[in-house]
Amino acid sequence: MALNFIKKIIFKLGVAKRNPSFNEKFISLMKTDFADRDELDILVKNKLRDLLVFSQQYSNFYRDRFNKQGIILSENFDPFDVLSRLPTVTKSDLITSNKLIDTTSFFPFKKTFFSETSGSSGEPLTFLKNEEWDSANRAAIARGMSWYGVEFSDRNGYFWGYSFSKLQIVKTKFFDFLLNRFRLFSYSDEDIQSFMKKAENAVYIHGYSSMIYEVARKANSNGMKLNNIKFVKGTSEKIYAHYNDEAFKAFGRKIVSEYGAAEAGIIAFECPEGNMHINEENCLVEVIDEKIVVTNLESLSFPIIRYELGDFVKLSEKQCSCGRHHKVISEVLGRVGKNIYGKENKVFPSLTLYYIFKRLALECGYIINYRAEQHEIGKLVFFLEGEVSQEVNDKVLDFAQSYFLNTVEVELKNESVIHSKNKKLKDFESFL
Ligand SMILES: [Zn+2]
Repeated sequence: MALNFIKKIIFKLGVAKRNPSFNEKFISLMKTDFADRDELDILVKNKLRDLLVFSQQYSNFYRDRFNKQGIILSENFDPFDVLSRLPTVTKSDLITSNKLIDTTSFFPFKKTFFSETSGSSGEPLTFLKNEEWDSANRAAIARGMSWYGVEFSDRNGYFWGYSFSKLQIVKTKFFDFLLNRFRLFSYSDEDIQSFMKKAENAVYIHGYSSMIYEVARKANSNGMKLNNIKFVKGTSEKIYAHYNDEAFKAFGRKIVSEYGAAEAGIIAFECPEGNMHINEENCLVEVIDEKIVVTNLESLSFPIIRYELGDFVKLSEKQCSCGRHHKVISEVLGRVGKNIYGKENKVFPSLTLYYIFKRLALECGYIINYRAEQHEIGKLVFFLEGEVSQEVNDKVLDFAQSYFLNTVEVELKNESVIHSKNKKLKDFESFL
């Protein structure tokens, strides 16, 4: 207990040094946690105004866009109107116009952090994040965690990253010690056992949802169970209902969803009532043609304005019973942009897969963990997890053809585990 207390102090000293604005950002987010709609709208409007003014002044890329649209920021300009007149940006814009977007050569930020995230074509997106942006992001996660009575500095177990060398393991363990956490280093039964043992003294666990699921499944099949965990956070991936069933059995908690990306920041965090509240103080969300478009209100060093993140989402108008007025994302439907190609020049969005399996779950009660690959036009391979009966197989093919109209030949393969251990689960990959 005393050791944990010391570790919490070490953690907090580390945060104060690395992120001097963290506390201020956190306090400010907690103040507006239950703000009403009007207060939130005014806050967003003001922050958006500041971001637009700043970007016009310091970012060559956005200044050019304003000029092209004939936008002049008069004294009392309407930020929402200006925003709606700006074209959207994509990840490839952020990569190719990287230097033009960056404002750090023109504005003297006190401190910035290097940030790198993978691009769709393999080329990474790199940029500098000003300290306040980074702190605001961490504060948004901390606020979400506070809804569950949990603090960052609490003892935690981490599922992330698998291929470590011996030296990396030593280094990682050292940093994990400073962060009061431990992690799963491999997928062996032994390591899972030792992770579960350590987790008996943990407050929360977090990582890729598919990995949490995988560990929960193994733990369940070995009869291991925890009853001390307050909070399980799943990032980066869709959380399927069956992930939650296994997680609940093993950890006594369902997986709480955090939705975001390095460049977009924390977009939404699931509340205890199960709704994904948008982190509106930091992030303005628009939905255009069912696609999410994000403006990161904290992104001064590398402004992210009207960014097409690449997911289809649905917003909900319903007021959440938790009492928060922040808008709610009711569903993240899937990735945009990848198509499935059928015979006779037929093209289907990859979102079709989502609808096939959603209907299988809703209409037949078949909850299937899947992924799909296309290597040839007119052909598709579905990988289905675990033992799947002939009856279910037939239904999958039936539903698939109701969408593909026999222009795509579907082959079914059964796999015990459908995601590789060192990368994020993708529901669809095209190799065309
Ligand atoms: Zn809520």
